Amino acid sequence: MTRYDYDLFVIGAGSGGVRASRVAAAHGAKVAVAEEFRVGGTCVIRGCVPKKLLVYGAHFAEDLRDASRFGWDVPQPCAFDWPRLRDTVQDEVTRLEGLYTQTLDNNKVERFLERATITGPNEVTLASGRKISAHIILIAVGAWPVRPDCPGSELGITSNEAFHLESLPRRVVIAGGGYIANEFAGIFHGFGSHVTIVNRSDTILRSYDTQIRDRLLQISVSKGIDFRFNAPFKKIEKQEDGSLLVHVGSGDPLPADMLMFAIGRNPNTDGLGLDSAGVELGKNGAIKVDADNRSSVPSIYAIGDVTDRVQLTPVAIREAQAFADTIFGNKPHQVDYAAIPSAVFSHPPMGGVGLTEKQARDQYGSAKIFTSDFRPMKNVLADRHERALYKMVVHPENDVVLGLHMIGPDAPEILQAAAIAVKAGLTKQAFDDTVALHPSMAEELVLMR
Ligand code: NDP
Repeated sequence: MTRYDYDLFVIGAGSGGVRASRVAAAHGAKVAVAEEFRVGGTCVIRGCVPKKLLVYGAHFAEDLRDASRFGWDVPQPCAFDWPRLRDTVQDEVTRLEGLYTQTLDNNKVERFLERATITGPNEVTLASGRKISAHIILIAVGAWPVRPDCPGSELGITSNEAFHLESLPRRVVIAGGGYIANEFAGIFHGFGSHVTIVNRSDTILRSYDTQIRDRLLQISVSKGIDFRFNAPFKKIEKQEDGSLLVHVGSGDPLPADMLMFAIGRNPNTDGLGLDSAGVELGKNGAIKVDADNRSSVPSIYAIGDVTDRVQLTPVAIREAQAFADTIFGNKPHQVDYAAIPSAVFSHPPMGGVGLTEKQARDQYGSAKIFTSDFRPMKNVLADRHERALYKMVVHPENDVVLGLHMIGPDAPEILQAAAIAVKAGLTKQAFDDTVALHPSMAEELVLMR
C-alpha cells in the first residue's frame, strides 16, 4: 500500500498537464489533477486555438475582397458581425474543453477544479483547505501575460481578455512586437480596426530571420498597420469619453479605444507555495529543472511554460510525455530541443525552423543562402501585391540544410512538412533531387538555385 494519496498530483490541466496525467495514468499510476480555471489551459481556452480561429475569421476580409477577381460578386463593403464570431469561437472552446475533460475521465484521472498550492515536497493544499499527499508533484501551471510597470497600465487588456470583447474597438494600440502582437494586429486589422504596434526596441519578432521579419513589417505597413519603435510606455490616461491616451517614447501620445499588452508571458509561479518546499526559481520566476524536468526538490517536477524554456504548446506536450514515460512508464527519454519549428499566424503567416542566417554565420563563420522571392499565383490573379519569401540556410561545407524560413500564404502548413527534412539533417541536394509539385508555392523549396 502506498504512503501517499496519489502517485502523481499535477497542478494545471493545460496541454502539458493533461498529457502528463493521462500518460502516467495509462502507465498504471494513480493520478489527480487540479485546475483553477478551465480544463485545456492557455492553448485551448485563451491561446492557440481561439486565436487561430480568429485568424481564419480575419482572413475572410481579404478573401472576400479578392473574390471579385475570381468571378464572385460579393457586396462591398461586407458586414462583419464580431459577436457572432466571438460566440462561435467560444462554443468551439467549450467543446474542446469537454473533450479534454473526457480524456482525463477516460483515463481515471481525478479532477479537482480549484486552485492547488504546494505546502511541502509531497503535499498540496486545495483552495477548499483539503490537504493531499503525492509521491510526485508535477507543476504545469503555464505562464501569464506581463503588464508594464507604468501609471495606468491597468487600463490595458491582455490576450486573455481579447477573446471576450463586447464590441470591436475602432483604434487599437498593441504593446510588444512579438508573436501575440503581430498575430492580433492581423486579426484586428482584418476586422476593420486601425492598429498601431508599439515596441520598446527597433524590431519585431527578434528571434526570426531578419529578411523574413522585414518582409512582414513591409507587408503590414502596406496594409495600413502603423508601427512605433524604440517607444517604451510612459503612462496611459483615460479620457472623458472613455477612450485612452497612450504616452510612449518621445512622439505624440496615441489615442486608442483599446490597448492590449503583448510584451511576453512570465511563469505563473506567484503564490504557488514553491518557497515552502524549497523549489529553486530562475529568471522571471521560472522553475529551474534538469533535462528530466526535475526541480531542485527531487519529488517535484515541472514542464511547459512555467519552466520558460521554449514557450510552445507542442514542446510542453513533449516534455509531459517524456516526464510520464520516464517516471511512470519505465521508458526514460528526454526532449530534443534542436530544430523546433515555429510559426507566427500573422497576415500573411510566417514560420521558421533551424538556424537563421545570422545564427549560421555566427556558428560556422559563413553560410550558403538560397532565397525565392515570388508573388503567389493567387495573389497575382487577385491583383494583390504581397510577395512571399522563402529562405534556405545551408552549411558552408557539407551542404546540410541548417534552417528554413518563410513568409507567405500557408507558410506554417508548408514549413511543418519541410521541417522533417531539416530535422533529419538532409542536404540541399536532397531538396534539389525532389521533383517539384506544380503548381504550388511549396515547389519553390526544391527549385532554389
Ligand atoms: P514575445 O516574447 O513573442 O514578444 C514580446 C515582445 O514584447 C517583444 O517585442 C519584446 O521586445 C517586448 N517586451 C518584452 N518585455 C517587455 C517589457 N518589459 N516592456 C515592454 N516591452 C517588452 O511575447 P508574446 O507576449 O507575444 O508571446 C509570449 C510567448 O507565447 C511567445 O514568446 C511564444 O513563445 C508564445 N506564443 C506562441 C505563438 C505561436 O506559436 N504562434 C503565438 C502566441 C504566443 P524586444 O523587441 O525588445 O524583444
